[in-house]
Amino acid sequence: TPELARAESLIREVDDFPSQGILFRDITPLLADARAFRATVDALIAPFLGTFDVVAGLEARGFLFASAAAYTANAGLMPIRKAGKLPRPAAAVDYSLEYGVAMVEAHDDFPRGSRVLLIDDVLATGGTLAAAHKLIERLGYTAAGTAVLFEIADLGGRDTLNDPLLHTVFNG
Ligand code: IMP
Repeated sequence: TPELARAESLIREVDDFPSQGILFRDITPLLADARAFRATVDALIAPFLGTFDVVAGLEARGFLFASAAAYTANAGLMPIRKAGKLPRPAAAVDYSLEYGVAMVEAHDDFPRGSRVLLIDDVLATGGTLAAAHKLIERLGYTAAGTAVLFEIADLGGRDTLNDPLLHTVFNG
C-alpha cells in the first residue's frame, strides 16, 4: 500500500552507529508519523489475526510495536526483557552475540498453552528472536509466529530463527 511504502521510506539509515562500519536503521522517524506508525502496526499483525492470545515484545524497540499491536488486537502483552530487569523471571534463555553473551527473561503471567505472537523491530542475526522462541516454549506457551518490520537479509537471521510463520512488513 502507499501508506506502507511511505512508512518504509521514513526509516533512516545512519552510518557507523553504534560502532564503526555498522549501518543502523533508525525507526524513530516512522514512530513520529501517526499514519505510518498505525499502518505499520496493523501490517505487523494482519496475517496473524485470530491466531494469538498474547503479543510478546523484545526489549527495547520491540516494546514500542508490541504494545500497540496488543492494544489493537485485544491481546495481553508480554515484555521479553534483558537479564536482570524483571523482579521475578519465570524462565531465562542465554544466547551468544558477536562479542559475548546475552540473556532474555520473562514472567509467566498467562495460562499455559497461550498462543504468543513475537514482535521485534528488526531481524538481524536472529539470535535474539531464536532465544525468545525458546523462552516461550520453556514457559509452556506456543509460538503463533514472528513479526518484524524488516530483516537484514545477509545476516542469515531467517535461517537461524527457522520459523515458517515469519512475517516481514517491509521487503526493501
Ligand atoms: P539479532 O542480531 O537478530 O539478535 O538482533 C539483535 C537486536 O538488534 C534486535 O533486537 C534488533 O532490534 C537490533 N538491531 C540490529 N540491527 C538493527 C538496526 O539496524 N536497527 C535497529 N535495530 C537493530
